[in-house]
This record gives sequence, C-alpha cells and structure tokens, in this order.
Amino acid sequence: DQTRAPDYLSGLNPEQRDAVETVDGPLLVLAGAGTGKTRVLTTRIAHILATGRAFPSQLLAVTFTNKAAREMKERIGLLVGGAVEGMPWLGTFHSIGVKILRRHAELVGLRSDFTILDTDDVVRLIKQLIQAEGIDDKRWPAKQFAQMIDGWKNKGLDPSQIPEGDARAFANGKGRELYAAYQNRLKTLNACDFGDLLLHPIRMFRANPDVLKEYHQKFKYILVDEYQDTNTAQYMWLRLLAQRPPGVPQNVCCVGDDDQSIYGWRGAEVDNILRFEKDFPGAKVIKLERNYRSTEHILGAAGHLIAHNEGRLGKTLFTDRVNPDDEKVVVHAAWDSEEEARAVGEEIERLQRGDSDGKKHALNDMAILVRASFQMREFEDRFVTLGLNYRVIGGPRFYERLEVRDAMAYFRLVCQPADDLAFERIVNTPKRGLGDTTIRTLHDYARARDVPMLAAAADLIETDEIKPKARKALFDVIQHFRRWSELLETTPHIELAEQILEESGYTDMWKNDKSAEAPGRLENLKELIRSMEAFESLRGFLEHVSLVMDAEQNADMDAVSIMTLHSAKGLEFDTVFLPGWEEGLFPHQRALDEGGRSGLEEERRLAYVGITRAKRRCHIWFVSNRRIHGLWQSTMPSRFLDELPVTHVEVAESEQSYGGYGRGGYGQSRFDKADPFANNYSTPGWKRAQANKSDATRDNWGTRSGHAVERIGYGESGPKAKTIDGE
Ligand code: ATP
Ligand code: MG
Repeated sequence: DQTRAPDYLSGLNPEQRDAVETVDGPLLVLAGAGTGKTRVLTTRIAHILATGRAFPSQLLAVTFTNKAAREMKERIGLLVGGAVEGMPWLGTFHSIGVKILRRHAELVGLRSDFTILDTDDVVRLIKQLIQAEGIDDKRWPAKQFAQMIDGWKNKGLDPSQIPEGDARAFANGKGRELYAAYQNRLKTLNACDFGDLLLHPIRMFRANPDVLKEYHQKFKYILVDEYQDTNTAQYMWLRLLAQRPPGVPQNVCCVGDDDQSIYGWRGAEVDNILRFEKDFPGAKVIKLERNYRSTEHILGAAGHLIAHNEGRLGKTLFTDRVNPDDEKVVVHAAWDSEEEARAVGEEIERLQRGDSDGKKHALNDMAILVRASFQMREFEDRFVTLGLNYRVIGGPRFYERLEVRDAMAYFRLVCQPADDLAFERIVNTPKRGLGDTTIRTLHDYARARDVPMLAAAADLIETDEIKPKARKALFDVIQHFRRWSELLETTPHIELAEQILEESGYTDMWKNDKSAEAPGRLENLKELIRSMEAFESLRGFLEHVSLVMDAEQNADMDAVSIMTLHSAKGLEFDTVFLPGWEEGLFPHQRALDEGGRSGLEEERRLAYVGITRAKRRCHIWFVSNRRIHGLWQSTMPSRFLDELPVTHVEVAESEQSYGGYGRGGYGQSRFDKADPFANNYSTPGWKRAQANKSDATRDNWGTRSGHAVERIGYGESGPKAKTIDGE
C-alpha cells in the first residue's frame, strides 16, 4: 500500500521528508540550529534500511563524537523497531579511518597491528628527531612542531606538499626534512598518529584504485553530520569514497550549518560547504527553516546575534512555538565569578523547586556552558557546597586535571609527608633526573623498613645506593619539603602554596612549555590558588577537595551538565546557563589579539551555538570583576551582549544575588533603581546597569582598546576531537 506512509515519516515537515526520501544522488541539507538536521539523518538511515535499499553494513555514517554515534544507533533502532544489528561504519572520522587502515595497513607500509600514538608519544618522538639532527630543542620545541605537523595533516599535506614558507618557519628551514623523518620513523615503529588515520587511507585509495572500488561497492550510502566542521583531509577522504563514475548516483548526504562552524582553529573549512555543490554536480540542496527546539525569544536572540557576522550563507529560522508565557533570554550581572556561581546555583535550585512556573525541573535538563575550562572550577565547588549533582562532559573535572593533581600532590606531601602516592607523583615532576631505578630503590627501602618514601629518601642520600646526580636532586627535594612543612604553621596558606609551585619549578615547567595547552594549564593553576581563598588553611582546603573528588559522577543520576561550548555542539537542554560573557573571555582574548574578522566571527558562532542549545530558558551572565592570571581585573560586558535584541532579552533585576551577603562596600548601589537611562528603551539594560557602577570601576569601562585583560589559555576548551574512543 503506497498511500500510507511508514510511522517513522509521520511528524516530519515537507522539507524534512523530502530530505529523508531523496535517497539517490548527492544531497546537502543546510539549515540552522534545531531544525532537525540530525533527526533527518537518523530518519534517512531508518528509511534506507526499512525500504531494503541497503544493509546496515552498507551505510557509512559520520558523526562528530562517539557519543553522538551511539545515540544515533539507538534512535535508528527505535525508528525501525528492534535493535539495529551492526552498522559497523557508523562513527567518527577517526574511528572509521582506523578501521579502514587496519584492513590495508600493508599497502602504506604498516602492519595491521600498528599502534596509534597519542599526543605525548608524538612529542617525545619528535623531540628525539630534533635532537638527533643537532637542533636546539629549547629554541625549536617539539610540541610546536607537533602542532605544525598536525596542521599540515589537517590540510592533507605530505612532506613534499607543505608550503615553502611553512617549511622555512621551523628550525632554520629544516621543517620539511623533519616532517619526512618523522613519517619514516613512524613507519619503522609500525605506528601512526591521529592525522595518519585519514591521510594513510587517502594515499592508499589514490595508489590502489581497485581497493577504492571495493569501498565504492560496499558503501551504498554515505551520510555526514556536522558537516561544517570537517577539515580538508576529512573532505578529501569523503570525496574519494563518495565519488562514482559518470552516470552512477553519488549517494552522499551531508547536513550542516555554516553558523555553527566552531573548529576553524583546528583546521575546519567552512568552505567545504561551498565546494560540495562543485564537487558533486547536480547536488540537491534542501533548506530547513522551522526550528523545533527553541522558543521564539531564544531564536530571536540567537538570530539577531549571528546576523552581525558578515561571512554567512544566510538563512531564515522560525518557530511555531510562540507562547505568551515563554521567558525572554535573561541577562544577569554579578560582581565577580564567585557571585556568578552562587547566583547560577540559586537559579538552579529555584527551577528544581518549581518556584517560577510551579513545575519541578530535573537537573538533567540543565546545562552550564563555559567558554574556557577554568571557569568550571567555581561552579563545581559551589555545587558541592549546595549538594547539587553535576557532571562534567567532554573533559576531566577541575580537580582531576593533570596540572591540578600535580599541584595538589605537592600540597598533600607538605601536609602529610607519609603520602607516598603524592611523593611518587611529583618527585620527578618537573624532571629532576630521577629515573625509574632510583624510584625503585626508594620504594624497596621504604617497604623493607616500613617508612614513607620521603623518609627513605632522606636515609638513602647518606649512602652510596643512589648515584651522585640523583642524590643531589633528592637532597634538594627533601630540603624543600622540610622548609615548606615548617612554613605551614607560620605562612598564610595561599602565599605558601604559591611559593611551593614556584620553588619546586612546577610553574616554570609549564611556562617553558610551548604547547597549546600550557597557557590553559597555567590558568588552571592560578584558579587552583584562587580557590583556596575560601579556606583557612592548606589542610582545610585539601579536605574540601577530597570531598569534591568524592562527589558522585554516574550516568544515571539526575545532574546538571557542565561543559565547554565546544563540546555542547548538537546537544539540547531545557535550560542553559551561559556564564562569563565578558570581553577577553568571550570573545576570547586570542580572537581579539588576532585583530581580523575571522577569529571574532568564530567566537560569535560559538555564542550562537550556546544560545541555540536552549529549548525554553537561557540565562546569560557577566561579571564586573574576574580574576585572570591571579590578578583582579575589572571587566567589560561582552560585545555580544550589545548585539542581542532588546525585544527578546530582559535584564535580571538586581535583587536576587545581592541581598543578604554583606559584601562590604560593594553592591547594591551598582544597580540603583533611580536610573537616568531607565526610560531609554533603545539602550539595553546591561548598559544601564553599567552606567550605575561606582565611579571607581566605571573608569575602566569605556575604553575597549586601553583595557588590560591578560590572555587566557585555550587549554582543554573543546572536546578532544581526536579521541578515537570515548570522548
Ligand atoms: P543542531 O544544529 O543543534 O545540531 P539539528 O538541526 O541537528 O540541530 P535536531 O537535534 O535534529 O536539530 O532537532 C532539534 C530538536 O527538534 C530535537 O529535539 C528533535 O527531536 C526535534 N524535531 C526535529 N524535527 C521535528 C519534527 N518534525 N517534529 C517534532 N520535533 C522535531
Ligand atoms: Mg544536529
């Protein structure tokens, strides 16, 4: 019976249905946030399977994260009824790439059991190569070169293809040579890096048309989500797999949104959208304009904001969800980040209790989306105090980060010299030339006499059991810890903590590190020190952290999600909190330093992604003071706030977060109700709030150019896009 549509098609609008049913030939779905792109993709797969056009194993479907792949599999199962058996080729570019490479490793000179090196391995390897060439690796750091290679690989470039200028930019013109040496070395080691997971298959397909042909026969349909964030190498890979001889339909379907392209800094090329129509002649382009996710206010705010970008393909978005009860997007001002966290916590509790609309809201329906990962700490601390469950998505929780754990190990050992785990963690971090042998000797000695390792070290440096160089290093470590322990009772704990990180060389270790993560790690260390302010002593602080660490984090509990804006792509929540909308943080200082338009526009797209994650409620915060690199800075509200439309946005009354907190001289007067601008409706409210700031702070507001905000690290913002399994 042709007239009755299968269930999975019901409920789709005509354009969506068109996209689902146009299965043959190239198709591009270009549409704004929440218009059902991912849903179309999922339904399309269900349709292809249900109509018997292909078996699950004949579909190649690319998602941005493994999590998204799992969810898609589940949803398809629901649509077609019953579990989807197989779909072995549904996954991220990397996970699919590795699968292909394993099958044909020998064609690129590897064995099928090749290892995949992580970033640390890669850097270590490059360092060896640099040193072997007699190049000064202080001047030409391995990490920097690792990033250059990664950049070239994102562009699909072999050593012979890299631009002359690029090759010259490293190690006095040795860039190309080193890149080639690196590739050779990988081959010898039977290893590859993340970039190779796509580049090797590309090479292999080009050199072996017969193998490529096998895949052409295998993959009857190709589908790609979040297409706007593909980089050149991914595009080349895709094009190879999707192209067919003239006359044979190229069944490739990509869905994306140019306004949500947020990985330019990782080599994503939004131009791939434009290339699609060129490379796949006769491609059908479908636009979806109806948004099913958000209220009119949320869409209005997001749409108005993104309209400030110039480089756009342009599209309209509308919603039928117009309800007089819908809340406008709310902009809140807070004095500093601590107050911001407190106010967000209160808002969450209000929603939980159902104060505003009589409905109790689940924590699972709420998310806090931050620009930089260091912002998370204050929320985590606050939620632990309140007993609110939370989970951090797409990265470790603040106190679990490598640099924070290292620093904590120092503090623990000062307070508790018997803490052997802490000792082992930091005794050779930063590097002090204490090798495995020395550590083992210490270990054995400590075990045999049942003493802590620090004490064992103190004994052993008096003997010949340890080599002179290591003995000297251990002597220094012991001296340091003795002194810090003595200072414990006399020196204010924050001062002591700073001193420990300085004198141990730990801070310097990251200062000398040229990697992209290093600034973020330093920022986290500053944030760690800052978080001690609320405590009386180092011990009190350590106790607090152990409680935070103990806080549950399991998948089933009802919990607020905390994540970076980058990891929020594709997701949706009833209520979204967007803290930290200040110049220098969001837009990020790095984008501002660049000067040009493109960095700023990418920040604006990120803001667009943030707002459009919200279904019903969106709360934005900015603070007047933020501590950046350990220094208090008075900050200016983000320019993005100025770009929100007054019709869809309201400014929170100042009452909530100020009352009752006796914060000395600050506070209430900042939002004086006797407001000279109050009747000027063309001035957004936060401008009015700003105009009422005390004179002392107001001085810092007006001049954007002269405003000093230090650089904030990019570290860890965004998911590790390269993770193969479990992001
Ligand atoms: P993003 O750009 O953020 O990735 P998207 O375009 O992929 O968004 P989806 O996540 O697929 O959008 O859909 C957004 C929401 O709208 C989802 O909750 C989805 O179930 C719902 N939705 C999509 N199409 C329809 C429809 N025809 N009827 C009802 N709900 C729909
Ligand atoms: Mg989507």
